[in-house]
Amino acid sequence: MIEAIMLGSGGGMPMPDRFLSSLLIKYKGRKILFDCGEGTQVALRKVNAGFKSIDIICISHVHGDHIFGLPGLLSTMGNSGRILPVNILGPLGITKIIDNLVSTMNSLPFELNVIENPTSNIVFLNTSDGLKMAKSCSDYKEIILNTVTLDHSTPCIGYSIYFSRQRKFDLEKALENQVPKELWNKLQKGESIVFEDRLYEPDMVLGSDRNGLKISFITDTRPLDKIADFINNSDLFICEGTYGNCDDIDKAISNKHMTFNEAALLAKNGNVKELLLTHFSTALGNPHQYLNNAKEIFENVTIAYDGLSQNLTYSE
Ligand SMILES: [Zn+2]
Ligand SMILES: [Zn+2]
Repeated sequence: MIEAIMLGSGGGMPMPDRFLSSLLIKYKGRKILFDCGEGTQVALRKVNAGFKSIDIICISHVHGDHIFGLPGLLSTMGNSGRILPVNILGPLGITKIIDNLVSTMNSLPFELNVIENPTSNIVFLNTSDGLKMAKSCSDYKEIILNTVTLDHSTPCIGYSIYFSRQRKFDLEKALENQVPKELWNKLQKGESIVFEDRLYEPDMVLGSDRNGLKISFITDTRPLDKIADFINNSDLFICEGTYGNCDDIDKAISNKHMTFNEAALLAKNGNVKELLLTHFSTALGNPHQYLNNAKEIFENVTIAYDGLSQNLTYSE
């Protein structure tokens, strides 16, 4: 099971009842953060999430409402006893911004692995040292992170994250292939083994492929056709809906954001299972008032609020 927790559903500036952009994903005791607006560490405390096990931080862009929480969070992670390296992904220019932010702090007790504007898939594996980037030769792609370039007033990228599901052990197949019992465990974990002059491959003991889970995180941007392809078949599509009222389309165009119905159209075209709207303008006091603007295009839509937790389970 994977848990997605909306830490901050606001855009622009923090409001008394709405923190700024941030989403937490919990996976097998480890954590992945998408965006880190001001107040993110308070929001993490509110949902009782610890800091030490945050292994990956994906930043959409360097506007303050998406990144100003980072120095405080990194500092707290250091004080929480974090010593394992932390991966930070972000758009063009992220390395310089991180250097500047970190230069205002005392040295951190862990290394920062900054990945600027990744253009190909990045694979992570869950190890005894947390989520670590896989070597390029790794066959097992446990977590696949992908990015798409968005259309905003500064370099901005969207993310998708796919959690693969391991194939089941198939006893019949293992017996049929005459695989010695002592090799079952290693083969199941993806290792190939030469034993008594015969090569044994994982495929000899594993059943058919199983569907994983895909989550997409798209903010801030105008809608683009390629976003629909990028988010295709997501189990959960988290998307900005800065403006609820369709009449705000001129503002959405000039500020490079989206209205609820534009986000809903992406959800529909991307054939996602669920749309979670977030990044509400400070002027949008009650986003629910405009829910129907999205629902008339895409039925399964939820208005995010801070602290909203969603459990995603694998389908059989
Ligand atoms: Zn924003
Ligand atoms: Zn922005």
